[in-house]
Amino acid sequence: MTENTENKPYRILLYYKYVHIENPEQVTAEHLRFCKELGIKGRILISDQGINGTCSGTIEQTDAYMAYMNEHPLFKDITYKIDESEGHVFKKLFVRHKNELVTLRYKKKMDPNVLTGKRLSPKEFYEQLQQEDVIIIDGRNDYEYDIGHFRGAIRPTVESFREFPEWIRKNLPEDAKNKPILTYCTGGIRCETLTGVLMEEGFTDVAQLEGGIVTYGKDEEVKGRLWDGKCYVFDDRISVPINRTEEDVVIGKCHHCGKPEDRYVNCANVTCDKRHICCEECEAEHNRHCSEECKPH
Ligand SMILES: [Zn+2]
Ligand SMILES: [Zn+2]
Repeated sequence: MTENTENKPYRILLYYKYVHIENPEQVTAEHLRFCKELGIKGRILISDQGINGTCSGTIEQTDAYMAYMNEHPLFKDITYKIDESEGHVFKKLFVRHKNELVTLRYKKKMDPNVLTGKRLSPKEFYEQLQQEDVIIIDGRNDYEYDIGHFRGAIRPTVESFREFPEWIRKNLPEDAKNKPILTYCTGGIRCETLTGVLMEEGFTDVAQLEGGIVTYGKDEEVKGRLWDGKCYVFDDRISVPINRTEEDVVIGKCHHCGKPEDRYVNCANVTCDKRHICCEECEAEHNRHCSEECKPH
């Protein structure tokens, strides 16, 4: 996706690729060197399973980054989700080697090139959402779900991705094994693995939203329909709009006063640091503290 209609000076890239990397530590070091020289900021993870990144930079920097990647023997043919921005949305650059691209610690290391659910385009996913009997699983964490999700989706009570296998065993009924299951996540990478886990656990009809919520929101035909609220993102923006129709709504609630709100803040008490939804009035009133206990005595 390269359409550029707003002409803002910066861009945010979101991307991943599952590809076997023989020497991930060395590739990480090279990548860090290149990104530092280029001057982009963001979070890029590399493991022997591939690459998962989100970064920001000027149009020239992000163009140079994508050109470099397209020439790279391991990283060519990546689909980038591109957002426009007025500036950087990251404060620093992290390029790190990890044991797993998405931390799962499942009984076996999952490889989406071997096992993964059916991939649905935004339009196909939109149609499947309206099927009867379909089970829609949000493949993200509970706090992401709380400010926005697909209508009818189950809220997984997980605070990190690696809790999913246990959540699946405890919460999905046995008779769901042959029902159609749809999963989605921000950019698609978590579902690559999550759908594999579901299949490994005996679910037979499993499909995922290709390109994730972000791609769904950009699709000209579906325009984010059936998505309620905002999409949580892991950068300074905190959340982005998805539903581009008159059905766009706020579904989060202020932690203090309960009114509709979808902005997240972290508790001002640094030892607490609790992420909570908070309206501007309550932020001022409580000095951004999540509770009475957290206020200075
Ligand atoms: Zn409030
Ligand atoms: Zn607190």
